[in-house]
Amino acid sequence: MARGFTTKILHTLANRKDVHGAIQYPIYATSAYEFESAEDIAGAFQNTRPAFAYSRSGNPTVEFLETRIKNVTHAHQVIACASGMAAITATILTLCEAGDNIVISPKMFGNSVLLFIDTLHSMGLEVRLADFTKPETIIPKIDSHTRLLFFEVLNNPFLEIVDLENIQKIASEKKVLLCADTTLTPPNIFDAGRWGINISITSTTKYISDGGVSVGGLVIDYGNYNWEWIPKLNLLFSQHGQNAFAFKLRKEVLRNTGACLSPFNAFLQAVGLETLSLRFERMNDNAFMIAQWLDNHVGVVRVSYPGLPNSPYFDRCQRYLSGKAGGLLTFELESQQRCFEVVNKLQLIKRATNINDNRSLIIHPLSTIYADFSAELSKEISLSEGLLRLSVGIEEVEDLINDIQQALSV
Ligand SMILES: *Cc1c(COP(=O)(O)O)cnc(C)c1O
Repeated sequence: MARGFTTKILHTLANRKDVHGAIQYPIYATSAYEFESAEDIAGAFQNTRPAFAYSRSGNPTVEFLETRIKNVTHAHQVIACASGMAAITATILTLCEAGDNIVISPKMFGNSVLLFIDTLHSMGLEVRLADFTKPETIIPKIDSHTRLLFFEVLNNPFLEIVDLENIQKIASEKKVLLCADTTLTPPNIFDAGRWGINISITSTTKYISDGGVSVGGLVIDYGNYNWEWIPKLNLLFSQHGQNAFAFKLRKEVLRNTGACLSPFNAFLQAVGLETLSLRFERMNDNAFMIAQWLDNHVGVVRVSYPGLPNSPYFDRCQRYLSGKAGGLLTFELESQQRCFEVVNKLQLIKRATNINDNRSLIIHPLSTIYADFSAELSKEISLSEGLLRLSVGIEEVEDLINDIQQALSV
């Protein structure tokens, strides 16, 4: 019988058993590994005798985190990186070269957009924008140099849910890779491979790390794309078949760029996975109740939460996420000044960036996360100056509502 998410996480066996049979997989705090012979170390470097040689290229604790994720996502390959941004960067560097283009949604986590528009654009990658809630806008942007479509399934902080089925149809017709950031839709509620996503990226800093304790990222390859269609992977495909992407990412890009996950963070995140489902449920239930409460408050202009029946994304939330939008919501007040007043009056909810901490966190996105956006880009994302993002934690919900109520009172 198929087992549930948490059972699978708790009972994942490591590829190599710990010598002492430790119940919690240990932190291998080592930079390098000793070999019995010169032949063995040569074999490790030449991939004829796979073994850990140096922790920038591989570490047992990091591998254990990857194995746990692989077990619950049915992925073909999972590669851990130093952060969510490192995971996105490694993916693009593996797939694209100067002269290629990618089609992205401008409505994403601010650093992702800036990585594409500033950093990677200046290296010769052309970046085209489309509205992924309206997939017909994507079609005219695709040509023979388009390597991938990049979007967030549930986007931060806009909380729109994309039209996955139609995006997938377009991608498969055009043979273009579907790369999704699934940070807000973790594997306990969303099965990315089932919806035709080829590569998903997750910032483990968020839901997966156990309450805001570490930074990390994952690249997940579902084994459902033909790597022959990526010019840069052509040769590797003939040698490694379906492993072409993961091989290049791990053995070349990650090793050369050096953005490896630390074993200590891998340990924290492997432990975080054990309570992910519990924490997610509590954050989801709290956020739903707060969203409903805010929706009925006269001082609040608008609430965005896909779990609310009046949300334009309610149906997609039911279909893709079993009705669980998670712990993130936004609400709009009449002005930036009013937002600042309310934020400053909060006593429990913390003024901080980051999301999915066990504590509730609030931020005014326009003056912080999007402060570096050009006027042109800001217009593209049309973020209101009155918008606040609330990342709901696992406190008792009455305490959170009381805090918001006293802060909103005039
Ligand atoms: C936080 C975040 C990232 C970046 O992850 P880091 O671990 O901070 O580098 C990427 N995408 C989304 C949706 C995020 O929320």
